Amino acid sequence: MTTIENARELKGKRALVTGGSRGIGAAIVRQLLDAGAEVLTTARSVGPVPEGAAFVQADVRTRAGVAAIAEAAMQVDILVHNAGGAQPFEGTAAIPDEEWQEALDLNYLSSVRLDALLAPGMRERGEGVIVHISSAAVLTPMAPFLHYTAAKAALENYSRGLALELAPFGIRVNTVSPGRVTTPGGVQTREQWARVDPTPGANATTPLGRDGRPEDIANAVAFLVSDRAGWLTGSNLIVDAGEFPRS
Ligand code: NDP
Repeated sequence: MTTIENARELKGKRALVTGGSRGIGAAIVRQLLDAGAEVLTTARSVGPVPEGAAFVQADVRTRAGVAAIAEAAMQVDILVHNAGGAQPFEGTAAIPDEEWQEALDLNYLSSVRLDALLAPGMRERGEGVIVHISSAAVLTPMAPFLHYTAAKAALENYSRGLALELAPFGIRVNTVSPGRVTTPGGVQTREQWARVDPTPGANATTPLGRDGRPEDIANAVAFLVSDRAGWLTGSNLIVDAGEFPRS
């Protein structure tokens, strides 16, 4: 496929990208718009979103928020659930019970709930693509983040199972696991991490010598939602410059 054909390869597709007001989500929105898709994005706060995208304000941690997003999205061909994040603590014992629940709601159950509302439409139409954003940190669970990595690990396991369930209906489901990416959320998390953990983990570098850019992750997502990835489902694409150990 030439670059010019590539540029419009999602023409006529309707996409939902959660958490598209900044960081990785905004880069995904821009790439899908550039590829010709019609894009709806979401965030809790009303602020600038990439030009050309429609917007709905909602909190994905709540069932009501997820329902509002699904109602606005209606029939989508592409679902990229990107909204998520982590707040580090000094260690496992310091993670309050409500933070475990919040991490599960934000980083795992929001996907289950959103898919439950939007996948039936994809099944009826006999096609659809779902991408969940996980984290390469799942490969090395660390004490300040166990609530977050456990929730993302559940997301990966669930995504694999959902991929097998939906494959006969022409729906592909994959996860993308970013490493350390320079985004407002990523930078804030690593600053908090450095304060609660004296080891150099927060400030380590990657084998390729630089942190990721949001576009590095968006490139992977744009590929996964395209027909070029038509034989790819049930996979977890780790985009981390080789930093985290593979099993
Ligand atoms: P940012 O914090 O920079 O952006 C997060 C986006 O999601 C914003 O648009 C934010 O808007 C929205 N969002 C956050 N919480 C909610 C919520 N409860 N309901 C609705 N929208 C919400 O994050 P990143 O771009 O860094 O991260 C994107 C994804 O990538 C996340 O799933 C994260 O876990 C994952 N990831 C990121 C890494 C990194 O280094 N950056 C590394 C590994 C994984 P608002 O605050 O207004 O709601």
